[in-house]
Amino acid sequence: MLDDYKENNFYDYAKNLKKYYHAYLFEVDNLEDNYPLILAFAKTIICKNHYTNKNQCDNCNICHLIDENYYEDLKVIEPDGINIKKEQILELQKKLSLKSSNGNNQVYIIKEANKLNPSAGNSLLKFIEEPENGIYGILITTDKNQILKTILSRCNLISLKSLKKEEFEETSLKNLLDFLKLIHQKKENSLPYLKPNFFNNYQTKDDVIKAFNQMEVILDNIINLNFQTNTLNSTFCDIIKTSLKDISNSDLIFYLEKIVKFKNKLITIPNLNLNLFMDRFVIEMSKVR
Ligand SMILES: [Zn+2]
Repeated sequence: MLDDYKENNFYDYAKNLKKYYHAYLFEVDNLEDNYPLILAFAKTIICKNHYTNKNQCDNCNICHLIDENYYEDLKVIEPDGINIKKEQILELQKKLSLKSSNGNNQVYIIKEANKLNPSAGNSLLKFIEEPENGIYGILITTDKNQILKTILSRCNLISLKSLKKEEFEETSLKNLLDFLKLIHQKKENSLPYLKPNFFNNYQTKDDVIKAFNQMEVILDNIINLNFQTNTLNSTFCDIIKTSLKDISNSDLIFYLEKIVKFKNKLITIPNLNLNLFMDRFVIEMSKVR
């Protein structure tokens, strides 16, 4: 079940959208719970009444047909067996190239986009790279890290993933928010402030990976308009929003990219010196404009 907070936030977002990107990637906890919301988003793109809330849009025929799974300008792809095959993508492209008979926008949804096999992924990529007017893609996955990097970078990411409360107690949230705020304020002078206190909480590689994961969630959360909420505790979102309100979106994205980069290093490089690694991390983080 989705919580109301997430759902309402999402509808607000959809309502206020000025334009649509040609490809979206939705990251979700599980497909079934989130699919109605994603389908509603597809309706906002297709429906002439600009369907933006969970109530029926004036009973229009298009939304009705979408609900019945019977609308020709909405195409849904899902794995055929264990993965999504190139033929499925080519078939989709062929159908979309025929154009909508009534001039409507066309939307394709790819469920479990992480199961695109490499050649299917490449065919889709070509399609996303040269978008045609009136055609919009919605990809869905439970883990964005399993999506081909080239596809990921061309999609507008919308994360509907929930924070997991057991991984995220309030003290660690506040600690990490303080870390981000301090880096932002002190920039290249951050290190001396962080050394005595902050680093004591992260003594092992596992501690640091956990902290990186949590910062990723924090930043993802605020960059993606707070769609992710802890289903039990939506106040976390408010704490994050208030704490980071002075940091611009482009700076937040900069931090997020550094965190992901350093997390990958930490995971892939064996036997690195954790102290030096953390110093390097802080220095790189402070290079924000
Ligand atoms: Zn409608």
